[in-house]
Amino acid sequence: MSDHKTAIVTGASRGIGRATALELARAGYYIIINFKSNEEAARETLTLVQSAGGDGEISQFDVADNAQTKDAVKAITERHKNIQVLINNAGINADGLFMLMGEEEWDSVIDTSLKGFYNITKPVLREMVRKKCGSIVSVSSLSALMPNRGQANYAAAKAGIIAASRSLAAEVARFGVRVNVVAPGLIETDMIKDAPVAEIKKIIPMARLGKPEEVAGVIRFLCSGDASYITGQVIGINGGIC
Ligand code: NAD
Repeated sequence: MSDHKTAIVTGASRGIGRATALELARAGYYIIINFKSNEEAARETLTLVQSAGGDGEISQFDVADNAQTKDAVKAITERHKNIQVLINNAGINADGLFMLMGEEEWDSVIDTSLKGFYNITKPVLREMVRKKCGSIVSVSSLSALMPNRGQANYAAAKAGIIAASRSLAAEVARFGVRVNVVAPGLIETDMIKDAPVAEIKKIIPMARLGKPEEVAGVIRFLCSGDASYITGQVIGINGGIC
């Protein structure tokens, strides 16, 4: 069993998750790169982590599936005894007007982001509380805080993550575990490839989209000793939208 400081990043095969895996690898963490289906992309993340001087492994599981996630965390914690960081990054969107939104569009988004938060945080937290050390950062969204047409499912899932994280932070602060949230605005990833970018830029004071690395840097900070007195907080990363 290894005792290197270890970080689990969900949905790390691309986008913000991949950038976070790299950033945490540079900070010295051994990275568990979770992916749901795209093994090739997850392996690319691992190669990038290794090229940056770090190390890690890929781990396939669907965060929306409780049994699968529990089994995966059990296997991870049997191999790595020092899980210090969990990044709840996996998420999907299925935008559409609420009046036309099917049950599948509602459930899949809630199950990935919010049920996924429960499915993985619970077994990982048990290990962190036992060791009295840990940092959990979850990726919410500006959509949780600001109304956006067509995103009732996504906003509900992401607002749920904020509420759950703040409650959890209050529960586990005394055990040395910190729980925080980042709420990105529009970030250049595959998730927003169909978004009306030109229109959106008009409401962003910095007049540009964010980069995955600009989210990853804040996540790394929240996991670091420099953030040792920060818990239960939501940090906006959105180019100045208030
Ligand atoms: P992305 O689509 O590139 O990445 C999402 C990742 O989550 C992918 O690797 C995907 O395979 C993974 N994933 C999806 N369902 C999963 C599941 N059930 N189990 C395991 N992994 C799963 O998009 P991104 O922009 O990098 O998104 C990362 C997070 O950031 C998401 O939670 C998203 O909601 C959030 N976010 C993104 C933006 C943005 O503008 N891009 C803004 C705010 C919040």
